[in-house]
Formats: sequence, structure tokens, C-alpha cells
Amino acid sequence: MGHELLVLVQVHGQGGVKFQNWAKTYGSSPELYFQPTSVEEIREILDMARQRDKRVKVVGGGHSPSDIACTDDFMIQMGKMNRVLKVDMEKQQVTVEGGIFLSDLNVELSKHGLALANLGAVSEVAAAGVIGTGTHNTGIKHGILPTQVVALTLLTASGEILECSESINADIFQAARLHLGCLGVVLTVTFQCVPQFHLHEVVFPSTLTEVLDHLEDHLKRSQYFRFLWFPHSENVSVIYQDPTNKAGHVLPPSCLQARKLQTLLVPNDHRLPLLGFAAPFFLRQLVVGLCCWLLFAGVSALDQVGACSGKWLGTSGVGTFVPSLVCWINRFFFWLLFSSRVENIAISYKIFNYECRFKQHVQDWAIPIEKTKEALLELKAALENNPKMVAHYPVEVRFARGDEIWLSPCFQRDSCYMNIIMYRPYGKNVPRLNYWLTYEGIMKKHGGRPHWAKAHSCTRKDFEKMYPAFPKFCSVREKLDPTGIFLNAYLEKVFY
Ligand SMILES: Cc1cc2nc3c(=O)[nH]c(=O)nc-3n(C[C@H](O)[C@H](O)[C@H](O)COP(=O)(O)OP(=O)(O)OC[C@H]3O[C@@H](n4cnc5c(N)ncnc54)[C@H](O)[C@@H]3O)c2cc1C
Repeated sequence: MGHELLVLVQVHGQGGVKFQNWAKTYGSSPELYFQPTSVEEIREILDMARQRDKRVKVVGGGHSPSDIACTDDFMIQMGKMNRVLKVDMEKQQVTVEGGIFLSDLNVELSKHGLALANLGAVSEVAAAGVIGTGTHNTGIKHGILPTQVVALTLLTASGEILECSESINADIFQAARLHLGCLGVVLTVTFQCVPQFHLHEVVFPSTLTEVLDHLEDHLKRSQYFRFLWFPHSENVSVIYQDPTNKAGHVLPPSCLQARKLQTLLVPNDHRLPLLGFAAPFFLRQLVVGLCCWLLFAGVSALDQVGACSGKWLGTSGVGTFVPSLVCWINRFFFWLLFSSRVENIAISYKIFNYECRFKQHVQDWAIPIEKTKEALLELKAALENNPKMVAHYPVEVRFARGDEIWLSPCFQRDSCYMNIIMYRPYGKNVPRLNYWLTYEGIMKKHGGRPHWAKAHSCTRKDFEKMYPAFPKFCSVREKLDPTGIFLNAYLEKVFY
């Protein structure tokens, strides 16, 4: 008992903390919440958890749109273990503590003339967190973010520190590069970097038929090619991003304001010059603001009526209006914001990242790249054949190179990620069950594997079929954490 009290004083566990993920779609009430500053403190927390028969969940930025980071036992937030430990200029590698946010790392690397070769849409996420769930961006020559990891250190349940790389503890390394937070506490991560670079972004309108018929060409033409499809229509916005020497493109302040507005409304877009001049800007602000109200307040109000009548919108009388409304809104926003060509140049991370302000539900499965056309056309047909099924824009389609990471959705195959969303206006849940199930059905049929951070309904049986190396991962996990101290409800569905 005395020892327990001593430990409590040393590690400062806080009670009464409510944890919520970024989208406020999942949350939990950890009994004790810790923000350790050293390995010794983490060891003490693990000891205390063992003594009290508690589980431990380590979190980074809390951005995962699922319950993967939730626990009602002990939560360790790694925000205070966020230093850059070493920059090896010769190898162009950086070693950081697991809690560092990529937003801080990007700036630090830039000071050394280095950068990460690829990033996801946001950087307020931790180094250990992004690799934990297999965060990805796009670019068929580029793997998911964990492929940039060349070494890491893991504090295991027994308190041992393991160095892992291709040459040391190679098996554990292949598991820990995409660790799901279940192998131990990731203390440090070493990333392979590249020389700092600028990106030239070109965004232009197209159609779904054109993009799918010429997918190979698009993939060849741009290093970081992706596209946004506007469901209930043929409209597509193509986004090319490629390294350029034409650095130093400075945006006028009105453009920066416009960028903020536009990212607020259109999370996947960087097309600043489109709204680039003061007077039209304010006019557009009014128009776009009204549209925004129409989209979210309108759907939200209908949602409330649907909820009051005790039915999903899709089956209620009111719901019959919604599909046509959303269809119109998707088309209108495409016309307003995506129907002309726009270019932009900036340092890589400013192009990769965008400010994503609207909370949303999301699913994002990876399918073999050769299934892209078939799967997307099936989703389109399903929406057309079921007018009551509503899909918010955009469906974001990205690509990634195959890899050898055991639990990577791109394990041994080049892949297409198809990201669907439903916004949550004012924190409300817009009905999405039909759309969600239809999408999952199509993804499963085409051999899909769900993004680990995002919502899905898969269990161990599914993962055993999806991942040839699943048994190897399980045996590493069982060896490193035999009592399951790092498990939570999400992970129980994965492993039991
Ligand atoms: C607005 C937004 C945009 C996004 N964009 C993209 C995108 O473009 N591409 C994409 O693939 N994903 C994207 N995501 C998902 C996001 O990248 C992942 O959820 C990522 O894991 C978040 O990192 P985090 O630090 O917030 O991790 P958390 O959500 O905090 O944790 C994720 C997992 O990592 C574990 N973990 C964290 N730190 C440690 C540690 N030190 N040791 C052991 N385990 C640890 C946790 O236990 C958990 O299992 C986005 C999410 C949001 C909200």
C-alpha cells in the first residue's frame, strides 16, 4: 500500500479526465490519466497497472476516428515525450520520441533541410500514433507512413526496452511498424527522411468515367495523384502534387483568408487562388456561408425530425427529400469550388496537410489497385439504385505502394484507398447505416482491408482471412504482452 502511494505521488495520475477523439465520435473515462516525462515514469505506471489489475492505453494525438485509443482504465498521453533526439545528416534520418507531433517534426526537419517523403492530411498527430494505425497518403511510388520507419524502440509489458530494426529484432520490427498500440509503449521512432522539397499542386475538374478509364495515365503523370469523387454525380476533382524547383510562391493575405474559409468548407482542397481577391471573396463568403448553412443545418434539421419520429432518415417520410437535397448540394459545391483549374506551390508539408474542421464519420478501406474501377462503379450504381441512400462529398481516392509490414492494408499489394465520409453537423449523427454497409460489402467483395484507425465492423475471423501474416503478429503480441495489459475493447475484437 505504501509503495502504491509513493508511486501515485511520483507519476501524478489524474482522475476525472474525459477522453474524446478528434471527431468526438468515441470517448472514454480513464480512471487515471498520465502524462509521463520519462521512461522511468512509464515503468512505474505499468507497475501500478499490474498491481491493480488495470489495462493501459497509450495515446498520441487522439485523432483516430474509432475507439482504438479508448480505455476506462489507465491512459498514458505521450505529449511530454516529444523531443527530437538525433538528426543523422549523412543517412538523412531523424530519431524522435514517440509523442512528438508531426507538425513539430516538420518544422524541425525543415531547419535541417530535410522532410518526410509523405504525410497524411493532418500533422497534429504523434509519430507513434500515425505508425500505430498505418496512416497513409497517396502516391503509387510511396508506401504508407510506417514504411518510412527504419528503427524504433519499444518498452514492453515486462519493462524491457527493445531496439527494433531490419537487423535487430527483425520480426518484432515488422510487427511494430504498424503496432495498433498493443505491443508496448513506442518510446522512439527513427524515420528515413528526404531532402526538403516544395510541391506544385494542380487541381482540375474531370469526370469519373475519364479518371477511371485513364487511371494508369494519371498515376504515371503525377507522383502524388489523388482524386475526389462527388457522389450522386459524375463530377471529379483531380489533384496532382509533384516536387518542383519553383519555390517561393507567396500568397496574398486575402488568399490566406480564403484558404481558411475554403478548408473549413472543403477539407480536401488547397485551391487558394480561386477565391483570391478581396471583393469577390466577401461575396463568395456570404454565398458559401449560406450554402454551408443549407447543407448542414438543413440536413441536421431533417435529421432531427427523422430522429423524433423514431426512424432513420432513410426510412422516414422526411427522408425521401434528403437524397435529392444532398445530390444537389454535392453538385453545387463542385460547381462553386472545384469546377476550374487551380495551382499552388508551397513547402511539401503545407501542401500535404489541410485544416480539416468539420467533424465526420469515416471509413477508408484499401483494395488491390486493379479493383479501383470496378469497386467505385459498384458504389456509384448502388447509390443510383437506392435513391434513399445518401452520401456526402467527397469520396477521396488515394493510392499506395505495396509493402512487407505484417498488418499493413497494403501488405504485398499496390492498393487503392477509398475514403467515404458523413459529416456530423453540430455534432449530430447523420444516418449512414445503409451507405456504410453497402460500402463495406463492396470493399470486402474486392478483397479490401479496413484502415485500422477508422470505423469498421471486422473481427478476428475477417483479419485472419485478410492478412497472411496475422498469426505471426498474434504470436509476437502474445509473447510481448502475455496478460493483454495493452488491450482494450477495440483490440479484443481484433484478437479474440
Ligand atoms: C482530421 C483527420 C485527418 C486524418 N487524415 C488521415 C489521412 O490523411 N490518412 C490516414 O491514413 N489517416 C488519417 N487520419 C487518421 C489518423 O492519421 C490516425 O488516426 C492516426 O493514428 C492518428 O494519430 P494519433 O497520434 O492521433 O494516434 P491516436 O489516435 O492517439 O492513437 C492511435 C493508436 O496508436 C497507439 N499509440 C499512440 N501512441 C503510442 C505510443 N507512444 N506507444 C504505443 N502506442 C501508441 C494508440 O494506442 C492507438 O492504438 C486522420 C484523422 C483525422 C481526425
